[in-house]
Amino acid sequence: MATHSTKVLIIGSGAAGLTAAIYAARANLKPILVAGLQPGGQLTITTDVENFPGFPEGVQGPELMDRMQAQAERVGTEVIYDIITEVDFSKRPFRCVGDSGDEYVAETVIISTGASARWLDLPSETEFRGFGVSACATCDAFFFRGKDVAIVGGGNTAVEEAIFLTNHANSVTLIHRRNSLRAERVMQDHLFANPKIKVVWDSVVDQVIGSETPKSVTGVRIKNVATGETRELPVSGLFVAIGHTPNTELFKGVLDTDDEGYLVTRPGSTTTNIPGVFAAGDVQDRIFRQAVTAAGSGCMAAIEADRFLVDHGASV
Ligand code: NDP
Repeated sequence: MATHSTKVLIIGSGAAGLTAAIYAARANLKPILVAGLQPGGQLTITTDVENFPGFPEGVQGPELMDRMQAQAERVGTEVIYDIITEVDFSKRPFRCVGDSGDEYVAETVIISTGASARWLDLPSETEFRGFGVSACATCDAFFFRGKDVAIVGGGNTAVEEAIFLTNHANSVTLIHRRNSLRAERVMQDHLFANPKIKVVWDSVVDQVIGSETPKSVTGVRIKNVATGETRELPVSGLFVAIGHTPNTELFKGVLDTDDEGYLVTRPGSTTTNIPGVFAAGDVQDRIFRQAVTAAGSGCMAAIEADRFLVDHGASV
């Protein structure tokens, strides 16, 4: 078991973490980046990224992340494939322990552990995940060309994804647990104007129905929450778009979080309640959640870590 010492430890390898790494390495801070459970983060499960500046023809999510990592390494970042399972931020230098048993001793820490899609938590949903059940329409819509699909949720994501799905699917049924959407008015207008989309109000999916050979979804059981009535809707795909949960389990009781578990940073800054610990990307952003905003806050975190080290000195 090894001990790794660094001026800047970056936890997480999505757009925020890798951008922080590029900036910290170019400031000659020799950062160590621990890649985490899903190296490359959420962009590795998307396909075309058309809104990241600098790619006029678009870029594939995994390729964008490979490029960011190559850039981070070329300028001097050490990327380690490990998962941080324990943190001790009670004094500097901070100490973290990885799943490998390795110890990480760091003068500053940048947390960029991202967020994960929320699921309905039905056993049948878990069973058919990847076989017709998905939490990412942008990634998987393509597989449902000419098919009927359903999507659960009433926020901007669900509405945006429902509209996106109509590019591929024959029909899209949006199932929402209340009788009004949370999504912005203008997006709702687009949704209601789309002839391929039908909305089922006051309803939840209480079971995913499927067949074993080949393993695939054949429908969903919908329950009306007002009447208790259930019915089956024949669909080949179910998209779940009910929000994200920030990956902050590790920092509970240590760092300040908001009511949804997102790390709290000072406005206009990436500083947390512990001096020397910074947070960047989706782990602290419940609003924008874009690759470019995550990258931007990763840049801020590295600059703030550098300033912190100038002000407080480094012993490792
Ligand atoms: P939201 O939290 O805004 O919406 C989640 C939706 O899922 C809500 O309608 C909620 O219902 C529903 N929901 C939650 N849990 C369950 C459950 N267990 N069963 C059934 N339904 C459930 O998440 P989004 O991902 O839509 O958006 C997150 C943020 O990102 C928002 O701030 C949004 O504005 C932003 N965003 C902006 C976009 C844009 O501007 N283009 C695009 C996408 C996202 P209920 O309404 O009843 O609570």
